[in-house]
Amino acid sequence: MIDFQAVIDTLVNWGANGVLNASGWTVLAVTLVMTHLTICSVTIFLHRAQAHRAVDLHAIPSHFFRFWLWLTTGMVTKEFVAVHRKHHAKCETPEDPHSPQTRGLKALLLTGVELYRAEAKIPETLAKYGHNTPNDWIERNLYTRFSWQGVALMMIINLTLFGAIGLTVWAVQMAWIPVMATGIINGIGHYYGYRNFEAPDASTNVSPWGVLIGGEELHNNHHTYPTSAKFSVKPFEFDIGWMYIRGMEMVGLAKARKTPPQLILGELKDVADARTLEAIIANLDSAHVLRPNSSTLGSPFTSLHHTPTSFRSAVRW
Ligand SMILES: [Zn+2]
Ligand SMILES: [Zn+2]
Repeated sequence: MIDFQAVIDTLVNWGANGVLNASGWTVLAVTLVMTHLTICSVTIFLHRAQAHRAVDLHAIPSHFFRFWLWLTTGMVTKEFVAVHRKHHAKCETPEDPHSPQTRGLKALLLTGVELYRAEAKIPETLAKYGHNTPNDWIERNLYTRFSWQGVALMMIINLTLFGAIGLTVWAVQMAWIPVMATGIINGIGHYYGYRNFEAPDASTNVSPWGVLIGGEELHNNHHTYPTSAKFSVKPFEFDIGWMYIRGMEMVGLAKARKTPPQLILGELKDVADARTLEAIIANLDSAHVLRPNSSTLGSPFTSLHHTPTSFRSAVRW
């Protein structure tokens, strides 16, 4: 005969503690690992591989990242790529989808996700900036078509594994990208921090190392070299996303297409030759000899650049 009381007790225990019956510390550790996987999927797959083509990924990590992003963010690759490319193309202008310089830092921190979603709904943005993103069967029939069902499935998985606390784990997972990506990177990364380069936008490095946001904190470096797979440029900077890309490279799962240029000092020349001119043009943005607000420059230069110091903000350290 079935012992109904035992069955009910088991079900109640599952409901409260999940099938794993994990301790609080285990739940915390698993949550941190899962959120880290999500930010790595964003920075390595969506941002560096897809939006900027800075790294080629093997099908195995590529499919894993796509699946994990579907489960934990509901973001559609084409939408992310299009909105992000437009951000670079129109940086700090009224057309920039999420500039704290034009929309205010508060708007980015509180409503950054809405700004992203509003832009992702514009067909012209997707058509103009969203090219060359995955368009295979699983993209069309699952990831794009049922973009929000993945996070619902994740909630069921969390509740099954951890019980009631699984709902909190899920809430943390859902808040991770809005807080870390839209708030810290898109907001603070164009407002507070230090700058290695006088890029023609307000981008800043929020910190020289920020494990929780996967290397994305080096946002001034990234805006200076957007097609580089590596975001760190100074010896004291640490880009954890790049560390993973290097790890994947070693086992043949990734191939970086570009890294920041290295400074090579040659012998001094009395007269500038063609190579000197080439170097100056290539480094126009960072070359202090040709600052855009220099009075010696004519209007073609000044009209090409914003003057970074004129941006509202920016507390630099
Ligand atoms: Zn940016
Ligand atoms: Zn970018």
